Amino acid sequence: MSFSEIYLDIMTKNFPDGRYNDYADKFEILYNELVDFNEKVNLTAVTDMAGACAKHFADSLLIEEYIPEGATLCDVGCGGGFPTLPLAIVRPDLRITALDSTEKKLKFVSLMADKLNLNVTTLSARAEEIGQNEEYREKFDCVCARAVARLNILSELCIPLVRVGGKFISCKAAIGKEELCEAADGIEKLGAAVTVTKEPDLITAEGAQARAVFVFDKETPTPKAYPRHYSRISKKPL
Ligand code: SAM
Repeated sequence: MSFSEIYLDIMTKNFPDGRYNDYADKFEILYNELVDFNEKVNLTAVTDMAGACAKHFADSLLIEEYIPEGATLCDVGCGGGFPTLPLAIVRPDLRITALDSTEKKLKFVSLMADKLNLNVTTLSARAEEIGQNEEYREKFDCVCARAVARLNILSELCIPLVRVGGKFISCKAAIGKEELCEAADGIEKLGAAVTVTKEPDLITAEGAQARAVFVFDKETPTPKAYPRHYSRISKKPL
Protein backbone atom coordinates (compact mmCIF):
# COMPACT_ATOMS: atom_id res chain seq x y z
CA MET A 1 0.00 0.00 0.00
CA SER A 2 1.17 3.55 -0.71
CA PHE A 3 1.73 6.15 2.00
CA SER A 4 -1.43 8.06 1.07
CA GLU A 5 -3.60 4.91 1.25
CA ILE A 6 -2.24 4.07 4.71
CA TYR A 7 -2.56 7.69 5.84
CA LEU A 8 -6.20 7.93 4.71
CA ASP A 9 -7.06 4.60 6.31
CA ILE A 10 -5.61 5.58 9.71
CA MET A 11 -6.94 9.14 9.63
CA THR A 12 -10.50 8.20 8.70
CA LYS A 13 -10.56 5.53 11.41
CA ASN A 14 -9.51 8.11 14.00
CA PHE A 15 -11.37 11.13 12.56
CA PRO A 16 -14.39 9.77 10.65
CA ASP A 17 -15.47 13.26 9.50
CA GLY A 18 -12.41 13.28 7.21
CA ARG A 19 -11.11 16.59 8.56
CA TYR A 20 -7.44 15.69 8.01
CA ASN A 21 -7.81 13.80 4.72
CA ASP A 22 -6.45 16.64 2.55
CA TYR A 23 -3.01 16.72 4.19
CA ALA A 24 -1.59 13.39 2.95
CA ASP A 25 1.07 15.06 0.73
CA LYS A 26 2.55 17.11 3.56
CA PHE A 27 2.51 14.18 5.98
CA GLU A 28 4.24 12.03 3.36
CA ILE A 29 7.09 14.57 3.17
CA LEU A 30 7.25 14.65 6.99
CA TYR A 31 7.29 10.84 7.13
CA ASN A 32 10.10 10.48 4.58
CA GLU A 33 12.25 13.13 6.27
CA LEU A 34 11.61 11.60 9.71
CA VAL A 35 12.80 8.17 8.59
CA ASP A 36 15.87 9.72 6.94
CA PHE A 37 16.85 11.93 9.88
CA ASN A 38 16.21 9.09 12.32
CA GLU A 39 19.18 7.24 10.85
CA LYS A 40 21.49 10.02 12.12
CA VAL A 41 19.70 11.13 15.29
CA ASN A 42 17.42 8.82 17.21
CA LEU A 43 14.03 10.55 17.27
CA THR A 44 11.66 7.58 17.39
CA ALA A 45 11.41 3.80 17.43
CA VAL A 46 8.24 3.96 15.33
CA THR A 47 9.27 4.21 11.67
CA ASP A 48 6.81 2.04 9.71
CA MET A 49 4.18 3.97 7.75
CA ALA A 50 1.11 2.75 9.63
CA GLY A 51 2.85 3.20 12.99
CA ALA A 52 3.94 6.76 12.21
CA CYS A 53 0.51 7.71 10.83
CA ALA A 54 -1.26 6.46 13.95
CA LYS A 55 1.20 6.87 16.83
CA HIS A 56 2.77 10.16 15.74
CA PHE A 57 0.42 11.92 13.33
CA ALA A 58 -3.11 10.98 14.46
CA ASP A 59 -2.02 10.89 18.11
CA SER A 60 -0.65 14.45 17.89
CA LEU A 61 -3.92 15.64 16.36
CA LEU A 62 -6.09 14.32 19.23
CA ILE A 63 -5.63 17.70 20.98
CA GLU A 64 -6.17 19.92 17.92
CA GLU A 65 -9.85 20.68 18.62
CA TYR A 66 -9.02 22.24 22.01
CA ILE A 67 -6.66 24.90 20.63
CA PRO A 68 -8.37 28.23 19.85
CA GLU A 69 -8.05 29.96 16.47
CA GLY A 70 -4.90 32.07 16.12
CA ALA A 71 -3.41 30.94 19.45
CA THR A 72 0.23 31.14 20.45
CA LEU A 73 1.21 27.61 21.49
CA CYS A 74 4.28 26.33 23.30
CA ASP A 75 4.95 22.57 22.89
CA VAL A 76 6.99 21.64 25.96
CA GLY A 77 9.42 18.74 25.32
CA CYS A 78 8.54 18.55 21.60
CA GLY A 79 11.42 16.12 20.90
CA GLY A 80 11.37 15.37 17.17
CA GLY A 81 8.32 17.61 16.73
CA PHE A 82 5.26 15.89 18.18
CA PRO A 83 2.66 17.29 18.45
CA THR A 84 4.24 20.48 16.97
CA LEU A 85 4.65 19.38 13.35
CA PRO A 86 1.25 17.70 12.77
CA LEU A 87 -0.50 20.64 14.45
CA ALA A 88 1.45 23.18 12.38
CA ILE A 89 0.55 21.31 9.16
CA VAL A 90 -3.21 21.33 9.78
CA ARG A 91 -3.38 24.65 11.67
CA PRO A 92 -1.39 27.38 9.90
CA ASP A 93 -3.23 29.94 12.07
CA LEU A 94 -1.21 28.85 15.15
CA ARG A 95 2.13 30.42 16.13
CA ILE A 96 4.04 27.53 17.67
CA THR A 97 7.14 27.61 19.87
CA ALA A 98 8.69 24.14 19.87
CA LEU A 99 10.65 23.83 23.12
CA ASP A 100 13.10 21.10 24.04
CA SER A 101 16.23 20.83 26.14
CA THR A 102 17.89 18.63 23.47
CA GLU A 103 19.18 20.80 20.63
CA LYS A 104 19.84 18.00 18.14
CA LYS A 105 16.16 16.97 18.08
CA LEU A 106 15.16 20.56 17.39
CA LYS A 107 17.28 20.53 14.23
CA PHE A 108 14.71 18.18 12.71
CA VAL A 109 11.86 20.46 13.76
CA SER A 110 13.58 23.49 12.14
CA LEU A 111 14.33 21.50 9.01
CA MET A 112 10.66 20.52 8.63
CA ALA A 113 9.41 24.01 9.46
CA ASP A 114 11.56 25.37 6.60
CA LYS A 115 10.69 22.59 4.18
CA LEU A 116 6.91 22.75 4.76
CA ASN A 117 6.82 26.51 5.42
CA LEU A 118 5.33 26.07 8.91
CA ASN A 119 4.68 28.75 11.52
CA VAL A 120 7.09 27.17 14.04
CA THR A 121 10.00 28.63 16.01
CA THR A 122 12.33 26.36 17.96
CA LEU A 123 13.65 27.12 21.42
CA SER A 124 16.41 25.08 23.00
CA ALA A 125 15.88 25.49 26.76
CA ARG A 126 14.48 23.87 29.87
CA ALA A 127 10.80 24.59 30.51
CA GLU A 128 11.35 25.35 34.21
CA GLU A 129 14.01 27.93 33.32
CA ILE A 130 11.96 29.84 30.75
CA GLY A 131 9.04 29.64 33.20
CA GLN A 132 11.00 32.09 35.37
CA ASN A 133 11.98 34.31 32.43
CA GLU A 134 9.71 37.33 31.92
CA GLU A 135 9.97 36.95 28.14
CA TYR A 136 8.06 33.64 28.29
CA ARG A 137 6.36 33.42 31.70
CA GLU A 138 2.55 33.58 31.38
CA LYS A 139 2.87 34.64 27.74
CA PHE A 140 1.33 31.72 25.79
CA ASP A 141 -2.36 31.28 24.95
CA CYS A 142 -1.81 27.52 25.10
CA VAL A 143 0.88 25.14 26.27
CA CYS A 144 0.82 21.47 25.34
CA ALA A 145 2.99 18.44 26.07
CA ARG A 146 2.97 14.83 24.93
CA ALA A 147 4.87 12.05 26.68
CA VAL A 148 7.18 14.28 28.75
CA ALA A 149 6.62 13.55 32.47
CA ARG A 150 4.05 12.49 35.05
CA LEU A 151 1.30 15.06 35.35
CA ASN A 152 2.34 16.22 38.84
CA ILE A 153 5.76 17.19 37.41
CA LEU A 154 4.55 18.26 33.96
CA SER A 155 2.04 20.75 35.39
CA GLU A 156 4.83 22.73 37.11
CA LEU A 157 6.82 22.80 33.86
CA CYS A 158 3.87 23.94 31.75
CA ILE A 159 1.29 25.96 33.70
CA PRO A 160 3.66 28.88 34.57
CA LEU A 161 4.07 29.50 30.82
CA VAL A 162 0.30 29.87 30.21
CA ARG A 163 -1.24 33.35 30.34
CA VAL A 164 -4.21 33.86 32.66
CA GLY A 165 -7.25 32.90 30.56
CA GLY A 166 -5.18 30.43 28.50
CA LYS A 167 -5.00 26.62 28.51
CA PHE A 168 -2.61 23.80 29.31
CA ILE A 169 -3.35 20.66 27.26
CA SER A 170 -1.78 17.35 28.16
CA CYS A 171 -1.86 14.24 25.97
CA LYS A 172 -0.64 10.93 27.34
CA ALA A 173 -0.97 7.23 26.99
CA ALA A 174 -3.83 6.11 29.21
CA ILE A 175 -3.02 6.91 32.79
CA GLY A 176 -6.58 6.90 34.00
CA LYS A 177 -7.71 9.43 36.49
CA GLU A 178 -5.01 8.35 38.95
CA GLU A 179 -2.33 10.76 37.66
CA LEU A 180 -4.89 13.55 37.61
CA CYS A 181 -5.84 12.95 41.26
CA GLU A 182 -2.18 12.87 42.25
CA ALA A 183 -1.59 16.23 40.47
CA ALA A 184 -4.81 17.99 41.54
CA ASP A 185 -3.45 19.99 44.53
CA GLY A 186 -0.42 21.17 42.57
CA ILE A 187 -2.52 22.26 39.58
CA GLU A 188 -4.67 24.38 41.89
CA LYS A 189 -1.56 25.97 43.51
CA LEU A 190 -0.25 26.81 40.03
CA GLY A 191 -3.50 28.69 39.24
CA ALA A 192 -5.29 26.22 36.95
CA ALA A 193 -8.34 23.95 36.98
CA VAL A 194 -9.25 20.96 34.85
CA THR A 195 -12.07 21.57 32.35
CA VAL A 196 -11.87 18.62 29.96
CA THR A 197 -10.98 14.99 30.65
CA LYS A 198 -11.28 12.73 27.62
CA GLU A 199 -10.08 9.17 27.17
CA PRO A 200 -10.20 8.67 23.40
CA ASP A 201 -9.08 5.47 21.73
CA LEU A 202 -6.25 5.88 19.24
CA ILE A 203 -6.87 3.44 16.38
CA THR A 204 -3.63 1.87 15.21
CA ALA A 205 -2.91 -0.99 12.80
CA GLU A 206 -2.60 -3.24 15.87
CA GLY A 207 -5.94 -2.14 17.34
CA ALA A 208 -7.22 0.51 19.72
CA GLN A 209 -4.92 2.07 22.32
CA ALA A 210 -6.26 4.18 25.18
CA ARG A 211 -5.18 7.81 25.46
CA ALA A 212 -5.87 10.52 28.04
CA VAL A 213 -6.38 14.16 27.02
CA PHE A 214 -6.72 16.73 29.79
CA VAL A 215 -7.37 20.45 29.33
CA PHE A 216 -6.72 22.90 32.18
CA ASP A 217 -7.81 26.56 32.22
CA LYS A 218 -5.42 29.06 33.78
CA GLU A 219 -7.60 31.02 36.19
CA THR A 220 -5.14 32.99 38.35
CA PRO A 221 -1.44 33.94 38.06
CA THR A 222 1.08 31.29 39.11
CA PRO A 223 2.84 32.25 42.39
CA LYS A 224 6.38 33.51 41.72
CA ALA A 225 7.95 30.57 43.59
CA TYR A 226 6.98 28.25 40.69
CA PRO A 227 8.43 26.67 38.65
CA ARG A 228 11.19 25.56 41.04
CA HIS A 229 14.54 24.03 40.07
CA TYR A 230 14.03 20.65 38.32
CA SER A 231 15.63 18.71 41.17
CA ARG A 232 13.02 20.16 43.57
CA ILE A 233 10.15 19.56 41.14
CA SER A 234 11.05 15.93 40.65
CA LYS A 235 11.98 15.16 44.27
CA LYS A 236 8.98 16.88 45.79
CA PRO A 237 6.17 17.31 43.23
CA LEU A 238 3.48 19.77 44.34
N1 SAM B 1 6.84 15.20 22.76
C1 SAM B 1 7.68 14.35 21.95
C2 SAM B 1 6.90 13.16 21.48
O1 SAM B 1 5.78 12.96 21.95
O2 SAM B 1 7.41 12.41 20.61
C3 SAM B 1 8.95 13.92 22.70
C4 SAM B 1 8.73 13.08 23.90
S1 SAM B 1 10.26 12.61 24.64
C5 SAM B 1 9.81 11.14 25.45
C6 SAM B 1 10.41 13.81 25.96
C7 SAM B 1 11.14 15.07 25.53
O3 SAM B 1 10.99 16.03 26.56
C8 SAM B 1 12.63 14.86 25.31
O4 SAM B 1 12.97 15.30 24.00
C9 SAM B 1 13.30 15.73 26.38
O5 SAM B 1 14.49 16.33 25.92
C10 SAM B 1 12.20 16.75 26.67
N2 SAM B 1 12.23 17.33 28.03
C11 SAM B 1 12.13 16.65 29.20
N3 SAM B 1 12.15 17.50 30.25
C12 SAM B 1 12.25 18.75 29.72
C13 SAM B 1 12.31 20.07 30.30
N4 SAM B 1 12.29 20.24 31.62
N5 SAM B 1 12.38 21.13 29.48
C14 SAM B 1 12.43 20.95 28.12
N6 SAM B 1 12.37 19.74 27.52
C15 SAM B 1 12.30 18.65 28.31
